Formats: sequence, C-alpha cells, structure tokens
Amino acid sequence: MDAPATVLQQHLIDPEICIRCNTCEATCPIGAITHDSRNYVVDADKCNACMACVPPCPTGAIDNWRVVPRARTYTLAEQLGWDELPAPLSEEALAALGGDAQAAAAEAQAVVERAAQASAASATVEPQAAALTGAVLGATLPPWSAAHPYTNLYGPRAARKSVRATCVGNLRVTEVGSDYDTHHIVLDFGEMPFPVLEGQSIGIIPPGTDAQGRPHHPRQYSVASPRNGERPGRNNVSLTVKRVLADPQGNPVRGVASNHLCDLRVGDTVEVIGPFGSSFLMPNHPKSHLVMICTGTGSAPMRAMTEWRRRLRASGKFEGGRLLLFFGARTPQELPYFGPLQKLPRDFIDIHFAFSRVPGQPRRYVQDAMREAAAELAPLLQDPDAYFYVCGLRAMEEGVLLALRDIATGAGLDWETLAASMREHGRLHLETY
Ligand code: FAD
Repeated sequence: MDAPATVLQQHLIDPEICIRCNTCEATCPIGAITHDSRNYVVDADKCNACMACVPPCPTGAIDNWRVVPRARTYTLAEQLGWDELPAPLSEEALAALGGDAQAAAAEAQAVVERAAQASAASATVEPQAAALTGAVLGATLPPWSAAHPYTNLYGPRAARKSVRATCVGNLRVTEVGSDYDTHHIVLDFGEMPFPVLEGQSIGIIPPGTDAQGRPHHPRQYSVASPRNGERPGRNNVSLTVKRVLADPQGNPVRGVASNHLCDLRVGDTVEVIGPFGSSFLMPNHPKSHLVMICTGTGSAPMRAMTEWRRRLRASGKFEGGRLLLFFGARTPQELPYFGPLQKLPRDFIDIHFAFSRVPGQPRRYVQDAMREAAAELAPLLQDPDAYFYVCGLRAMEEGVLLALRDIATGAGLDWETLAASMREHGRLHLETY
C-alpha cells in the first residue's frame, strides 16, 4: 500500500469573495463547513473534497485550495481570523515544513479532476438520494429558455470592486408595526452598467466597520424588479428588505445592512457588488408556467418575475403560461405588496395566501395552501413547461418539499424520479436564507 501523501490540497473559502449566502454549508453532506458572524470555514479533518459544495457557490469563493503539509493544515481558528487567503506556499517553504513538491502536484491534479467530475454530476441526482432538502433537490441549471445572466461584474475579483448606486425610492410595503418593517427600495446605477435578470441578487456592502474594526462583509438581496428596470427603461433595480431587529432567538439586535437600507433617504448612495445567481431564473419560452412559493421577503424574486410577465402581456407580443403564487406570512399586515397583489387580474395570476397568526383563525402555512390546490399543482408537476420557485426563510423549505412530494404521490407519480427529472431540467429552484 502507498504511504499517505505528506501534503494535502486543503479546501479553503476565500473570505474576500464569499457573500455568506450559506449555500456551501447547506450543501456539504458531512458538516465540514461552518461559520461565525464573519467567515465561512472548512474543517480539514472532515473535508473529503467530495466537491458537492463547489458547483452551487454563486461567486466561486468556495473553489480555493492550498497545498499544505498534512501535519500543518490551517486550523478553523486561523481561517476565522482571515480577511484574505494566505499566499500559496513556495516549494522551498513546503519542503521546510516537511512536504514534497511531487506529491503536491499529484494532489493538485486529483482536485482538478474531482472538480470536473462534480461539475458534470451536479445537474443530476440519483433518485434514491432525493432527500427533502433544497441542497439535494434544487436545480443548479436554469430553465433551458432562460436569458443569459451576467454575474460577478463588480466584486473583489472583478475589474471594478464595487459600484455606487443612488437611492431613488424607499417605501414601506408592510403596514406599520414594530416587528415587520419591510421596505421597497429603488437603487439607480446611473451610467454604470448593471444588467440583472429576475431571480438574481445583488450584494450590499454596509458603510463602516464591524466590532473588530474590519469592513463589513456584503449582504445579499434578491432583485425585486424585472430586467428592464423598476421603472422600464431606467438603469435601476428594486429590493424588498426586511429590517432585522432581533436575532433568531428573539434577542434585540440591529441588523447592519437591513437597517442601513431601510433608513436610506432619496439621494443617499450605497455600495453594491454582483449581480449573483445563474440558475434561479425564469423561462422565456411562450406558454411556460411559473409556480411561485414564498414567504416574507422571499416575494422579491416572485415580484420581479410576475412584473416581467405582466409587462410582456401588456405588450401583446408574448403568450405566457399560467402564474400561480403561494404566499405566506404571519398576518396580512406584514405581507409585503399585499395591496398591489390583490389588484392583479385573476386571469393573469392565481394567488393563494396563507396566514399563520391571524387571531381567531387556524394557523395556515404555504404548504397548506399548496395541498389545497393539489388538483392544480399535480398536472403542473408533470408538465415540462412548468417551473417551480421557492424563496423565503430556510424554515419553509422542508414543509414545501414535503407538500410537493405528497401532491406528486397522491397523483400516482413516483416522487424520486420526478424530483430527479425536475432538478435535471432546471424546473425546481430553491433559495432560502
Ligand atoms: P446582521 O447584522 O448580519 O445580523 C444581525 C442578526 O440578525 C444576527 O443575529 C443574525 O443571525 C440575524 N439575522 C440575519 N439574517 C436574518 C434574517 N433574514 N431574518 C432574521 N434575522 C436575521 N433579506 C431581505 O430582507 N430581502 C431579500 O430579498 C433577501 N434576499 C436574500 C437572498 C439571499 C440569496 C440570501 C442568502 C439572503 C437574503 N436576504 C434577504 C437576507 C440578507 O442577506 C441579510 O442576511 C439580512 O438582511 C440580515 O442582514 P443584516 O446585516 O441586517 O443583519
């Protein structure tokens, strides 16, 4: 038997590019990826370089490797302290630490080969592996007829590190209430190109520094406007931002980026990177159907898609398919865009609301609304022209996938085969955070 190599290609995440979207941690099948309030890091003792996390990463931050002696891998504590990746070790430095260059080259080649295999395999999923998680079931390919997305035009590795956008509108879109303050914010890029498609997101870099005196890391926000602008023909995008005033345990905390955005006044500027996202995109072919399932600010990409189809319909030049929206919130008061949504024609979009905290009424979640509409959803699950989108808080993911599975099974479909096919054909997209 060969002796174990003296060196290792250690898997690392580039903190300069990472947008902290949690996709890698959610995708890692063995829990090798963790994070603190600043960095995502890989445990060298656990990572087996399976590459499952590499294709879904929107920025490429995940695809970084450093040859290190096995006895001297970068610890989690070291990685958590980084603002940038360490430079690769020179051959001399490696030798001084007990590693040899030939073994390093072989390790590097093995990683390249595994990455290529993972990329080819990422579009397909074995039916028996179809666990009910977005990481396993969500498509990494866009619909076949999606437009080409531009990604990472601005960011640490791009020619321009960021772009400044001007706030040209900031409107509260939930009723006044202390714990569900959500804003519709319009950002204009002026002369700077910033092409986006419905379903993509952008990164906001809050001004100032964090508790350690380092620049804040960027936060991601889904674009809520269609490709030709919040106002057609303008170089602008809109966002749907919920002001974070408590941590997941309910302790009071002022979220840095969300409060910065919600407090913007017209004329203020913000630092933006992106765009991000190349699979959560809408189909462009006539008669394609959209099934949109969301909670809270997960409505942002659904608003973008709905508005684009509404504009196409108004132009009279595009024959759209069906639009179904399943939209959940605790109460109607905290559901963004509740008023405007109700004004959309019924023959254009079929809307199912679900409210979980209306006094005197039973709790109802999006998955309950979906189950009630099983007769409508089952044929769409089988229809190759129907595309499903799920967006919102991570907690909704399992319930929605369970409902889809039960609706499929109730219609006599084999869920695992169906789920694998939907993923392979870019028909089931999940973005939860
Ligand atoms: P931080 O200062 O980062 O965190 C403060 C505290 O709030 C922490 O304790 C943290 O655990 C908690 N916290 C973090 N995020 C949330 C949250 N979402 N809800 C409740 N508590 C939280 N947000 C939107 O409002 N609209 C969007 O369209 C949107 N799209 C997103 C798309 C993607 C792909 C991803 C990954 C995230 C998206 N988010 C969206 C969430 C957003 O990126 C931020 O995480 C959120 O605004 C909190 O950032 P913050 O700087 O205000 O809070």
